[in-house]
Amino acid sequence: MSSTTVVNCIQCHQPQHIEARTADLDSWIGGELIQVAMPYLTADEREILISGVCGTCFDNMFGGEE
Ligand SMILES: [Zn+2]
Repeated sequence: MSSTTVVNCIQCHQPQHIEARTADLDSWIGGELIQVAMPYLTADEREILISGVCGTCFDNMFGGEE
């Protein structure tokens, strides 16, 4: 059973909608690696769950500095 989790980006405060199975989220919270628990998520979707930052902001934070 899948559900949509909404996480507000801590940088731009835009709500990010992530489709994930509740059981998979539970397993990740329980200590499973996120790429193992939810391999179907994109890198951006995993990032918002791990760090609370959306893909756009993540790129701005870490991609724009030389
Ligand atoms: Zn953002």
